[in-house]
Amino acid sequence: MGKGAAIGLDIGGGSTKLGLIAADGTLVQSTRVLLPMGADFPAIAALYRDAIAALGPDAAGLPIGLAYPGHVDRARGVGLNSNVPALDGHPLVAALSAAALLNDADAAAVAEAQLHQTARILMVTLGTGIGVSMVVSGVALETAGGTLGDSGHLNLDPSGRHMCRQGCTGCLESVASGEALARDATALAQAGESAALSAVLAANGHVTTADACRAALAGDAGARSLVTQMAEWLGMAVASWRATFQPELILFGGGLSVLGQDFIDLIRDRADARSLPFLRENRLTLARLGNDAGMIGAGLAALTPKT
Ligand SMILES: [Zn+2]
Repeated sequence: MGKGAAIGLDIGGGSTKLGLIAADGTLVQSTRVLLPMGADFPAIAALYRDAIAALGPDAAGLPIGLAYPGHVDRARGVGLNSNVPALDGHPLVAALSAAALLNDADAAAVAEAQLHQTARILMVTLGTGIGVSMVVSGVALETAGGTLGDSGHLNLDPSGRHMCRQGCTGCLESVASGEALARDATALAQAGESAALSAVLAANGHVTTADACRAALAGDAGARSLVTQMAEWLGMAVASWRATFQPELILFGGGLSVLGQDFIDLIRDRADARSLPFLRENRLTLARLGNDAGMIGAGLAALTPKT
């Protein structure tokens, strides 16, 4: 590996993706580190160091970038408020001699942004939760905590009947995330309002987000109604993000992107019905890098670290 390469880590709750990234953002080699249940900070840092060493002599001495699933405090070199509590508040940057630390949604968005000749890109990551990042001329916009605030928690549902996993009621994440879809699909199955999902519930004892997506894509009317309702909520959110950030391009990544461009077009339809007329011109499309985006963005950040 020549000069200008880097190592990117995309830290996740169950596992961390770790890769060797070329200067142009190409993923050269990657591996995955599984975090044992109950592992503490020193144990996890040691696992990361071993995995970096296992990339081989080409990786030795390369700058390291960390994509963190929560807020980041660069001054202290720590992450906060993540779904990996064993790492929160610990000196991760120092332990790995890392050159860059950034939020994971920002890392993914920066990696996707390099594939487009567009200055203003909003990226929405639809996973268990909802991550939102705004990239302007290749740089992620930060408002607080090294993130675009917590823009997946736009408050939309006046009924406030659901609480998101982070603790607010009526937010976008509480009604249109992967976790919300699994919850609503389970309720639908229990009520006998979806033949496909009731069959899944009977066979497995539970209904997952992936089950609900599969049923919707296969044409199950109940599952499709859930997806249509999610598109309505996401369309409201897109109209608000358009008015706030004026993106030229809006990308959707994360597990729910399996629902495809038809789902994105549905979101666009609902967003257009609510947006200011001059803000309806932007494109909405699927992200391209899939699960590699965070790792690649972390590597790119290590090559151009913020101080
Ligand atoms: Zn929330």
